[in-house]
Amino acid sequence: MFDEFGLVRATPARVMRGGFAEATLYLVVIGDPAAGVAVPRNDAVSPRQGERPRPRTCGTKEEELAEMPDSDGVVSSSDAASLLASLIAIPSVNPAFRTSDAPATWFGEAAMAAYVAAWLREKGAEVELDEVLPGRPNVIARLKGDQAGRTLIWEGHLDTVQTSGMTVDPFRPELHDGRLYGRGAADDKGCLAAFMLALRDLAQRPAPINVTFVAAVDEEFQFRGILHHLERGERADGGIAGEPTRLHIVSACKGCVRWEIEVRGRAAHSSQPERGIDAIAIGTDLAVHLRRVFGPDLVARVHPLLGRASLICSMIEGGEGFNTVPASCRLKFDRRTLPGESGEDAWREIAKEVRRFAADLDREATVVMHPPFIDSISMEVAPDATIIAAAQEICRAEGLTDALLGVPFGSDASKMTRAGIPTIIFGPGDIADAHTADESISVAEVARAARMLAEMARRFGE
Ligand SMILES: [Zn+2]
Repeated sequence: MFDEFGLVRATPARVMRGGFAEATLYLVVIGDPAAGVAVPRNDAVSPRQGERPRPRTCGTKEEELAEMPDSDGVVSSSDAASLLASLIAIPSVNPAFRTSDAPATWFGEAAMAAYVAAWLREKGAEVELDEVLPGRPNVIARLKGDQAGRTLIWEGHLDTVQTSGMTVDPFRPELHDGRLYGRGAADDKGCLAAFMLALRDLAQRPAPINVTFVAAVDEEFQFRGILHHLERGERADGGIAGEPTRLHIVSACKGCVRWEIEVRGRAAHSSQPERGIDAIAIGTDLAVHLRRVFGPDLVARVHPLLGRASLICSMIEGGEGFNTVPASCRLKFDRRTLPGESGEDAWREIAKEVRRFAADLDREATVVMHPPFIDSISMEVAPDATIIAAAQEICRAEGLTDALLGVPFGSDASKMTRAGIPTIIFGPGDIADAHTADESISVAEVARAARMLAEMARRFGE
């Protein structure tokens, strides 16, 4: 009864800009020529709540700053505290996370970009604002220490996630026990402050190295800031993407591809289920089927720094009412990829199985495998890359581990590495504090990161 399920329409569909480089994806439609197209989704991470008490309110910022020991380097903890507090005080929530209960001025990166640009210009960098999307510019700051020498690119992001559910004031930074609290403290304003102070250090004590610092928009949603910058085609010999790694060197990360599958059945009164086609039953069968088919193989794919590949059905929604055979079911999938496999290949592999599943159905349903709405590639930098050697040397000199780590989260580093710039992820703060209800970072660690970044640049230029 269902020859039409053998029919697969392959409609070319462009997905997210930059997501799949040159590739054209195919929207696989089984039995339905009028399928929809992919829509970018909000990929917000909800803040964790109640994990830490609200910082106590005794002590003022000035008192705490006065107690902070200054380092013997050119970047002190009080430098870091005052710059980072200024950055936290400027809201820069990614517009993809816009909510009606928050003021419109909290969204977008323009004010942050203007502040960062002016600060760096004053310190002697050559600064450009490069508009990526209307009113959303990247900041590009350059220090030319040696025209013929190596170029290092530093990258951090201007945007943050949403503020809903926060237990600390998101944009009125408070300093307690050496930690600054507020949205973006750890992700990614601590890193921005470290890069800015490191750049100031290099401007004051020049080194034979060219440094380009890119403070990018849209890292938290679709990476459009860094993708736009990389399209300029400027060359660089190595890169550091600032994300909270607790001053560890991260040289590998997993990729992530996400898409939706839609099942369309037929509604009927639930007292006469034989008259309908139960889309939820088909959808859940499909989720179980994919887990059975791919689970064992994915568990067997292991990377030494990153662990296992994975596939999960992360959301299911469907049905119309208590007493109706459900006519629709939508499932969202999240596949984590390892270096060596692309999101596109992973998606195609599963699309093929979905087609097979649909072809075996004995009910007249429609199964639509949508193209990915997120495709963040995996990354691995060769352990003998110059940027890794420079970072390891400085970590050792600081008495920190020089071990190379892998992380499960994505960042702009993978796009830079794919563009031919070997890029590590490095920065102050802990990813466990990012996106949380009481986000915070150690100010001393931000200052230390700044000093280390400047030293890494000097070492990289040698
Ligand atoms: Zn980040």
